[in-house]
Amino acid sequence: MSNEQTFIAVKPDGVQRGLIGPIITRFEQRGYKLAAIKLITPSKEHLEKHYADLSDKPFFKGLITYMGSGPVCAMVWEGRDVVKTGRVILGATNPLASQPGTIRGDYAIDVGRNVCHGSDAVESAKKEIALWFKPEELVSYKQAQHDWIYEK
Ligand code: GDP
Ligand code: MG
Repeated sequence: MSNEQTFIAVKPDGVQRGLIGPIITRFEQRGYKLAAIKLITPSKEHLEKHYADLSDKPFFKGLITYMGSGPVCAMVWEGRDVVKTGRVILGATNPLASQPGTIRGDYAIDVGRNVCHGSDAVESAKKEIALWFKPEELVSYKQAQHDWIYEK
């Protein structure tokens, strides 16, 4: 399925550090298609929904403060196996365990300042896309290079 979608966000530290371009470039150059993008400073309520699964973690309060501390670049990327491959492109949650060549492995040190977010499964991607974007904000188009990226 080349129309699988994932939710990718450049977190406030990534935006402030000028990493929107490099992060977008990695997805573009891999061959993935951008389906939606916006800058938004998310509210506490929005972030508590986004990270609901982590509400009992000791770092939860700090995570919500961090994620609401400035604009986030919210995106939807589309393509074959993009959820799983997107996580590989991001690297491990803890940047110290991330391989060089991954975004976190190249641009981050602390787990609480790990510059990017990516959905961890197809189902959570659907939920996250619905939380961050209105349906009309998602753009459908054929990538000009489609047939040079996919054999079929
Ligand atoms: P992700 O899916 O790789 O982003 O990781 P998780 O869903 O497990 O955690 C969400 C986010 O919470 C991570 O990206 C980190 O920013 C933050 N986080 C996770 N574990 C820790 C931790 O042990 N300490 C702190 N301070 N933040 C953490
Ligand atoms: Mg996660």
